[in-house]
Amino acid sequence: MDFDKKSLQKQFHKDWKQHYDLKIFADRGFIRKTCGKCKRTFWVADKKKKTCGDSSCEPYSFIGKKIGAKKLDYIDTWREFSRYFAKQGYQTIPRYPTIARWRDDTWFVQASIYDFQPYVVSGEVKPPANPLVVAQPCFRFNDIENVGITSRHYSGFVMLGQTRFISTKMGHLEHWKDPEIANVIGALENFGIEKKDLTFVEDAWVGGGNAGPCFEVFCKGLEVMTAVFMQFAVTDNGLKELPLKVVDFGWGLERIPWLLNGTGTSYEITFDPVDKKWLKQLKIKQNKKIVERFALEAARLNIEDIQDLDSELKKIAKKIKCSYEDLKIEVEIMKSFYSILDHTRTLLFALADGALPSNTGGGYNLRFILRRALRLAEKQGWQIDFKELARDLARSLSGARARQISDEKGSELIEATSAPMYPELMEMLPNVEKILDVEIKKYAETKQKVSGIIEGILQKKKKLEIEDLMILYDSNGVLPEDLQASAEKKGISIKIPADFYSKVAAMHTEVKREKAKTSSKLLAELEGLPATQALYYEDVFMKEFSAKVLKVINLDGQKYVILDKTAFYPTGGGQVCDTGELNGKEVVAVEKFGKVIAHLVRETNVKEGMPVIGKVDFGKRLAAMRHHDAVHIVNGVAHAILGHHIWQAGSEVTPEKARLDITHYANLTKEEVQKIEKLSNEAVLSNLQIKKTNMPKQQAEKAYGFKLYQGGAVPGADIRVVEIQGLDVEACGGTHGNNSASVGPIKILSVKKIQDGVVRLEFVSGQKAIEEQQKVEKILADASLVFNVPAEQLPKTCERFFREWKDLRKEVEKLKAEKAQMKPAGQQKQEQKK
Ligand SMILES: [Zn+2]
Ligand SMILES: [Zn+2]
Repeated sequence: MDFDKKSLQKQFHKDWKQHYDLKIFADRGFIRKTCGKCKRTFWVADKKKKTCGDSSCEPYSFIGKKIGAKKLDYIDTWREFSRYFAKQGYQTIPRYPTIARWRDDTWFVQASIYDFQPYVVSGEVKPPANPLVVAQPCFRFNDIENVGITSRHYSGFVMLGQTRFISTKMGHLEHWKDPEIANVIGALENFGIEKKDLTFVEDAWVGGGNAGPCFEVFCKGLEVMTAVFMQFAVTDNGLKELPLKVVDFGWGLERIPWLLNGTGTSYEITFDPVDKKWLKQLKIKQNKKIVERFALEAARLNIEDIQDLDSELKKIAKKIKCSYEDLKIEVEIMKSFYSILDHTRTLLFALADGALPSNTGGGYNLRFILRRALRLAEKQGWQIDFKELARDLARSLSGARARQISDEKGSELIEATSAPMYPELMEMLPNVEKILDVEIKKYAETKQKVSGIIEGILQKKKKLEIEDLMILYDSNGVLPEDLQASAEKKGISIKIPADFYSKVAAMHTEVKREKAKTSSKLLAELEGLPATQALYYEDVFMKEFSAKVLKVINLDGQKYVILDKTAFYPTGGGQVCDTGELNGKEVVAVEKFGKVIAHLVRETNVKEGMPVIGKVDFGKRLAAMRHHDAVHIVNGVAHAILGHHIWQAGSEVTPEKARLDITHYANLTKEEVQKIEKLSNEAVLSNLQIKKTNMPKQQAEKAYGFKLYQGGAVPGADIRVVEIQGLDVEACGGTHGNNSASVGPIKILSVKKIQDGVVRLEFVSGQKAIEEQQKVEKILADASLVFNVPAEQLPKTCERFFREWKDLRKEVEKLKAEKAQMKPAGQQKQEQKK
């Protein structure tokens, strides 16, 4: 059955008594009404109210007014929120990283519920607390052109999650929605907001195969939160009640203090006091009269539906009685200034969480917003030190808060108070600054390169379509504004669509890792078989084992043997599978499908029910195992030396060698490579314990953080944690030795940048490292023989030979030239003819 939002709205509207008629509404004197403008139904305590509260149905009525006795700023609002909910039994949990390493379907967290998807929401993993509140920074890159204008749009914002997981096992589900809505009203009243100013608009929510009724909660024209009841699974036979229901309420932290303080825009309270400092430092002069009147209008713009901002601005200019040109200047200043603050704050969170700008994947969006911010500053002629701005933002969010601007000196404004909100931002700042430096330099280099490209294009093409602009931006980093400016000088006009950057960003939002498809025929054959017991985990040194054959599958010329248990490691986690023999017949490959391990054989002499002896080619396994240990060691060392942005971008482990791709903004220097090699070998020599533990995911995340997911998201409720004492912790299903000493020497063979932001290291360990050493020694010995000198004299000897050879060549050239001079003219011509 097809469930879109519209059909659900209709259905829930019809069955409104079941979905929206809550006891709490009756208790608190709310009645159900229909909006005189948009015709939607809503709940309200003020019996005279005629409209639903949405800004498209009634104007903002909070601007310029203060609500409540408490003077709450951005961080105070969160503290007050968390205090209120603590009294109601909600536990405040720390925020999750903005980079969603625990998921393989998205790069960034876009809403607070992302923290708990998919495994907590599905019931597989226990929630970190229940009920809970969290101040979760989220990123959305799709409405970037509206940032700075509407007060509602940000690339990075904080969603306060009010979340509860309700299992049917907990019983008495009848009124499960009431206490949650009671807490919404309670929290708002605690802020000083009166219940007569609230409206609960009935709506429907659908996403990720789930659905449920929801309320949009408005106050004085502003939507302050959305209350979603994740209640149903969407199935082919209609809606099915979920066994685990999720109360997924999201509050906009940027909106509540705006509402409470009645500032002209939400940006003025969100970025306070950093914006005040920079407005002053950049000597930005705003026409307050126009700005204030525009803010009221802009907030009401339904910008999602606007094709052309300019024509809207013309209408507004008329309405607020100023010239379009004057308005345009003010809007450009607001857009540029607050976009710069917003984008820098987003980058601060992302880089502090270990992300790296690049030209692919999620890193693309980060580079894109940084370049947009740089560009906007250039256009306005603002000299902004982005590192200083990032530092100010980190300080203001860390709890080292500014209460006032120091007026005499003007520069240093941060006054420390207690109780940090995001203290980790300050801690990570040095690394953030380093990456900003690198990226800003890259931008300057690209601009240089691009001016040449632009010249070339304009000579060839007179007309450029949006597709051309997008390709140019995407593959060459040509900003459409630069192209436009150069084109104008040549008398060519280029139109840039208002949503250009949203379109570009949209191309890079969708994610992520592609999964290999397994033949459905094979999966059908494997169905119903029990999980294979993994002997390679129980004893990683097991070379031989006996087991029982559960099934032999012949499929499209491939033969698979399924056993009740096996010591053969199946391909996974970047480690190649074991090979060996089953009853003397060769095992070519081993693969895991779900919980069943299949041995691929060329031929077999076994049948279902028979016992079998398996022999693992242990030489190969041991070499692979050492390489896998070495990958973890080198990764841990690289992280320690190079910084928090170092993540494993991929790895491959075979008996022959190890490959580790790490995220890094530059190629490694010779010194860095040597240091990594030296410290890796020190880790080996320190004989660090390698601990392998199966534990519940939530417990592991709590103990080690999300750096566990070096190899990407891991399914299931339990994970296997491989910890190299004091150096590295990863969720990993590979085979690992018991201590680092057994890895033997680690030798790095090559290091190269394989793509923007990714460096590949190849190395060997154990016997392979010795072999590598011997190979080099042999080369030296052969060379010594040629020159007939001991190896240590080779560099000097080679240099001498090279110098002499160069001198001799010069001499020969000279002689040739002299010889040519000496010949009579006629003879020269003769020579040339030959
Ligand atoms: Zn309405
Ligand atoms: Zn691993």
